[in-house]
Amino acid sequence: MTFHMTVSDYVDYLLAAGAEIEKNGDFITALDAKTGDGDHWVNLNAGFLKLASIADELRALPLPEMLKKVGMTLMSAIGGSSGVLYGSGYIAAAKALKDAEKLDAESLLTLLDAMLHAIMDRGKAQPGWKTMIDSLYEGVAAYRVALERGEDDKKALKALKQGAHDGMERTRQMEAVKGRASYQANKGVGELDPGAVTMYLQLACLCDFITAGKP
Ligand code: ADP
Ligand code: MG
Repeated sequence: MTFHMTVSDYVDYLLAAGAEIEKNGDFITALDAKTGDGDHWVNLNAGFLKLASIADELRALPLPEMLKKVGMTLMSAIGGSSGVLYGSGYIAAAKALKDAEKLDAESLLTLLDAMLHAIMDRGKAQPGWKTMIDSLYEGVAAYRVALERGEDDKKALKALKQGAHDGMERTRQMEAVKGRASYQANKGVGELDPGAVTMYLQLACLCDFITAGKP
């Protein structure tokens, strides 16, 4: 399988990701109430609802401008750290893909890698610090290895989803270094990081969306 994702496909993916986040509200809020201040899901969900409300406007833009608009929208619609982090991630992805019209397996790696590094820079955080970075970092690493090995797109996407899942699961045993969980006596050990969960949900949805053959 070889995929090509148009701007309109990407907007459809964002709508599907929004629905996935919406569905997991109780679970994520309960998790964030234990390790954070309980607002992560409300914030992120508000961001995706805003994206859904401007879906037609997004569909009409060239790919880099669409990604930039997604970043600016998330930055203003999501409160808390996540808004700035996702905003910076999408704006960096837009810059990295300035000449692209569609996404294929290689340019998707460029997008995700740019997003990862922007989030690490903006959050001044590293993999292993129990954040949203952990899901993205392991997903990107596994996806890169699969593409370098010459795996077909479907297998590479499967590796991306599995890597993101492994990264999310690993946050359970990590001690938080940044953010509110780091102020707790046990530093959140024993619980998944809510931001790692929502990052995984988006990446899993992206892989499922592409693999289902809609693009
Ligand atoms: P806040 O920490 O302001 O309450 P949110 O509730 O929007 O932020 O999001 C919390 C999630 O954001 C955390 O679960 C974690 O994954 C992520 N996060 C918080 N701070 C950072 C950071 N400096 N770098 C990367 N991710 C972070
Ligand atoms: Mg919060």
